Amino acid sequence: MTGTRSAQPGTHFTDHAPCWGDPDFAVADNRWKSGEDLVAICEPVLYVCGDCQYRAACIRQVVPAKSGFDGVCGGRIWLNGVIVTALPDTDPSELPPAVIRKSCGSAAGSRAHRRAVEQQCPDCEPFYRPGPNPLDDEDECDAQQLELPGVADSAKE
Ligand SMILES: [Zn+2]
Repeated sequence: MTGTRSAQPGTHFTDHAPCWGDPDFAVADNRWKSGEDLVAICEPVLYVCGDCQYRAACIRQVVPAKSGFDGVCGGRIWLNGVIVTALPDTDPSELPPAVIRKSCGSAAGSRAHRRAVEQQCPDCEPFYRPGPNPLDDEDECDAQQLELPGVADSAKE
């Protein structure tokens, strides 16, 4: 899905990505309190990652999952190292390659890949389920729990 928009000559062919040094990409802690604040800062600049050929390199360099990164990296908005928003054309192939673990080939293996924000290995791919979005924790989860009929199902976890 690349190349759908015509490239602007020169824009992305420098020795670093167009976002380099922009404070709205690596957002200082004192500029936001909630995930929604962070997204409000980052979403208006996320488009800059569209067409960017440095997305995979950006993620390799920042290692957002390990560093607990907050901000925009590689076409995605990260909150404490977890992806909360992504451009529609982002692809898992831009994430770091899968680390093969003993748990591979199971749901646990898939979750381990997901927590590390890396690609799923072929054995884990069938077990992949999207993780909870941290932004949802801030409001929607409470609302959903209120809607549960009765408490009979509370032993689900
Ligand atoms: Zn695996």
